[in-house]
Amino acid sequence: MDKEFKLIIDDVNGTKQISKDQLKYVLECEGEDNEEYLFEAARAVAEQIYRRDIYLRGLVEFTNYCKNDCYYCGIRHGNVNAKRYRLTEEEILGCCDMGETLGFKTFVLQGGEDPYFTDDRICQIVQKIKERHPSCAVTLSIGEKSYESYKRFYDAGATRYLLRHETADNEHYSLLHPAAMSGENRKRCLYNLKEIGFQVGCGIMVGTPYQTIDHIYEDIVFMQELKPQMIGIGPFIAHKDTPFCDEPNGSVNWTLRLLSVLRLLFPKVLLPATTALGTADVMGREKGILAGANVLMPNLSPVNVRGKYLLYDGKICTGEEAAECNVCLRNRIERIGYHVADSRGDHPDFVK
Ligand code: SAH
Repeated sequence: MDKEFKLIIDDVNGTKQISKDQLKYVLECEGEDNEEYLFEAARAVAEQIYRRDIYLRGLVEFTNYCKNDCYYCGIRHGNVNAKRYRLTEEEILGCCDMGETLGFKTFVLQGGEDPYFTDDRICQIVQKIKERHPSCAVTLSIGEKSYESYKRFYDAGATRYLLRHETADNEHYSLLHPAAMSGENRKRCLYNLKEIGFQVGCGIMVGTPYQTIDHIYEDIVFMQELKPQMIGIGPFIAHKDTPFCDEPNGSVNWTLRLLSVLRLLFPKVLLPATTALGTADVMGREKGILAGANVLMPNLSPVNVRGKYLLYDGKICTGEEAAECNVCLRNRIERIGYHVADSRGDHPDFVK
């Protein structure tokens, strides 16, 4: 094993800090034994806090209409080939009922930025979910809104919000999004959400066009400042009907290494092994857990719309019912020596 690599991992693990040079070394130094040392260190940290518990979050992809035009995303406004859908309130509630039967304690409502779903409609849906499933957590992932809107969602009963910052570097941000969007506003949204009291998830795609190690380092610095409760990262995967259709996909290996680095830097953070990771590699989600991840987000959306919420090409689990996915995932988790937690899986510092 590379001596320098081991020294760096031990240092990062001990100090909970990483320099840009160290990050570069950890991402670029090849060799399976190095990698295994990193993964093992990250697993040990996760295990100390979470044992071998994995939290499941049931994902309801309730609309693929979107007013934004992010260059990487398959449901961008400008994609005329996307077959648009939105679930009715009844359908959304039905997904959550199904989720509870399957043992889920968290429902994540994710969608494009769809003007049909006004604040009033979102609040009403959140309230109804909380009425029917009072002990479950409701997470929203519906993009950039005003402080006032976020506050209303919170007051309606949503306590978690996922909003990947995508990249902390404003210039890089502007290469991934049209001029109407800004990195500054994205980051401001995250601070607003934190101030209101949400458990917040930020995150990035690994290997987006123009991304450098300097950017990833900036992302880490941003996360150290924001102190999110959750960090979602997955590889960038090209979608055929986007401006980035011919760009190479992000590296699974770098995603895994970065998951481990994040686990070392943020021992208590909730860290999903994402669907994109599972798409880029058939064993991606297992590998993610073995690199320090502790959350999985199986799909609860009705099968008839699953094939339409396509952020990238080749997305897995678009043909199966929620119940099938549930059995499959639980088996996968057990096969690698982990188990599904019964609790809601709030961040350990969040006393409710
Ligand atoms: N409208 C919501 C939800 C976006 S979809 C919002 O703005 O937050 C959730 C995440 O999927 C995005 O934040 C992005 O990081 C990721 N994603 C989008 N397109 C992708 C692609 N081509 N490859 C991998 N991940 C992608």
